[in-house]
Amino acid sequence: MLNWIDTRSDEQLAAAARDLFAVAFPDSPAPGGVWAAPGRVNLIGEHIDYAGGASIPFALEQNTAVAVAPRTDGLLRIASEYDGAVAHASIPLADVRPGHPSDWSGYVAGTVWAATIANALTCSGLDIAIVSDVPVGSGLSSSAALECSTAVAAYELCHGRAPDDTARAQLAQACIRAENEVVGASTGGLDQNASLFGQRGKALFLDFSTGAVERVPFNIDAQDMVLLIADTNAPHTLSDGQYASRRGIIDAVQSAAGSTIREIPDAEAFAATVDPAAAELYRRRVRHVVEETNRTLAAGTALAKANLDEFRRLMRESHVSLRDLYEVTTPELDSAFTAAGELGARMTGGGFGGAVIALIPRSAVESTAQAIHDAAAYRSFPEPTFLVARSGEGARRLA
Ligand code: ADP
Ligand code: MG
Repeated sequence: MLNWIDTRSDEQLAAAARDLFAVAFPDSPAPGGVWAAPGRVNLIGEHIDYAGGASIPFALEQNTAVAVAPRTDGLLRIASEYDGAVAHASIPLADVRPGHPSDWSGYVAGTVWAATIANALTCSGLDIAIVSDVPVGSGLSSSAALECSTAVAAYELCHGRAPDDTARAQLAQACIRAENEVVGASTGGLDQNASLFGQRGKALFLDFSTGAVERVPFNIDAQDMVLLIADTNAPHTLSDGQYASRRGIIDAVQSAAGSTIREIPDAEAFAATVDPAAAELYRRRVRHVVEETNRTLAAGTALAKANLDEFRRLMRESHVSLRDLYEVTTPELDSAFTAAGELGARMTGGGFGGAVIALIPRSAVESTAQAIHDAAAYRSFPEPTFLVARSGEGARRLA
């Protein structure tokens, strides 16, 4: 028996958020609304958002929903149904600052804080009840879904209208800041842009050298293809330190050059000069960034021509590079990659655990999922869970 991830409808998710709100904040009036933001899946362009690269993600149909009511006393009260329990947090907005709070509530409080100091909105306190269908810690960006649902809710409660694309760009920066500065997770912007700008039926071409966000057709249905996500459910180990160490090398090279990796003429050779004692390691890491950027540009062209064979070949190369050059895969991810048949498959997200995606014919979904499942069972890995991903709407009001 394969284990498929359950997803609630927008109506069910909104009702669940309202129910949690009523239980968590019995002293509060009814919420002013319910907002949602999706997780995202990244098709290609991994670990290069912080290096002036590019990525092609799409917003998932799996959302985090927040039922939110304004307060007048400057307090942020947050309740989240998460990991089989309800977690609570309460913090005055005035106490939010870099590094505080650094637990899960920092994604929420940090977003309101960062959006406020960027003058994207004003806020005199909020009650926020959170429910989610986005798998947590699976590389599908539950963290961005949490930030972006909070951001659009706080924005609309303040301004009385949904954010347009200009405001969304501002909110994306606030969400990134919350994650980087308040929680201390050094992610680079891919996730928040995908969650805020996603559109049903579209993928996004994100160019991190210019900040450009382009909505591009993503019509794999027409070729009877689907995107299967296999969450390995492997526990993250040392993920924070490992992510930071990969980024640390790229940041060191970029600061020595005074530009992004993409702008350095022979970036690999240059990287070797930055830390001569670790020249070989620096070369390998930067080679991934350079090649993954080129692959993603090529993948964008392939997608525009509906050339999915080429796109699938590039996905495979991306995984191999993340495995051999960037070294962010795990035995569980590599097992799923191999079992999926490699062509059209790759790990997605930051790595060190999380999910593998496979762009495959619709007729191969069951057999591919079974092969991934069996490969994991054979090696006594955790049982994977599966999802057929479709591109959904970006952050929005639900009710
Ligand atoms: P990913 O974004 O790939 O799911 P991250 O490690 O970036 O993984 O983010 C996961 C973290 O985000 C969790 O450990 C938790 O702190 C926070 N988080 C995500 N979703 C929720 C939620 N619904 N409620 C509370 N915290 C959440
Ligand atoms: Mg995340």
